[in-house]
Amino acid sequence: MKREDFLDLNEILQHPGKKAIFSVETSLNQEADLDLVTPVTGEIHAISTGNILLLAADLKTRCVVECSRCNEPMEVDIVIDMEDDFDVEGIPASYGTGGYARVVPEEEPEPIFQENHLLRDAYIRQGVIVSLPVQPLCTGDWDIPCPNMPRTSSEPLEEGHPAFQSLKSVRNSEDDAS
Ligand SMILES: [Zn+2]
Repeated sequence: MKREDFLDLNEILQHPGKKAIFSVETSLNQEADLDLVTPVTGEIHAISTGNILLLAADLKTRCVVECSRCNEPMEVDIVIDMEDDFDVEGIPASYGTGGYARVVPEEEPEPIFQENHLLRDAYIRQGVIVSLPVQPLCTGDWDIPCPNMPRTSSEPLEEGHPAFQSLKSVRNSEDDAS
C-alpha cells in the first residue's frame, strides 16, 4: 500500500478542535469493480471532539457504468459527499494526563483505519460505491428508448400471433364474467 494512502489523523485526535484538510487525488487503481475515467479528486476534512472523530469528504470523479436497460457502457459524473463519525477512546495527549486517544476499530469487512491512520482509498471507495446512480439510462429518460435496444416491441404484430390469441381469450373471459 502506498504511503499517500495513509492519512495521519493522530495529530488531530490528540488535539480536539484542531482541523485537518487533506487534498485527494486517487485512481483507486486496485479496484476491479469500479471503472473510473478520471481520478477521484477533492478534499477530506477531519476533526475530533475528544470522543468522536468527524470525517467529511467532498469529492468527484467520472466513471463508466452500464445502462440499466440496454447494458451499454456509459460515462457519468459522480459527486461524492460523505459525512461520517467514529468513536474515539482514551484521553487526548494534549490534555496532559498522560493519556492517548485512538480510533475505536469498527468491525467492517474492509477496515478503513489502521490505528490512527485513515486508509484513504478504502474510505473513498465506500463513498464512490454508494454514490453510483441506481438506474442509469443512456438516454437519461425512461420515455426515450435506448438507441441500441432491439426494436421488436415497436413492430406491429401480425394477426394470429400468439399474443393476439391470448389477448382475445382474456377479453372473452371478461365478457363471460359480466
Ligand atoms: Zn440504454
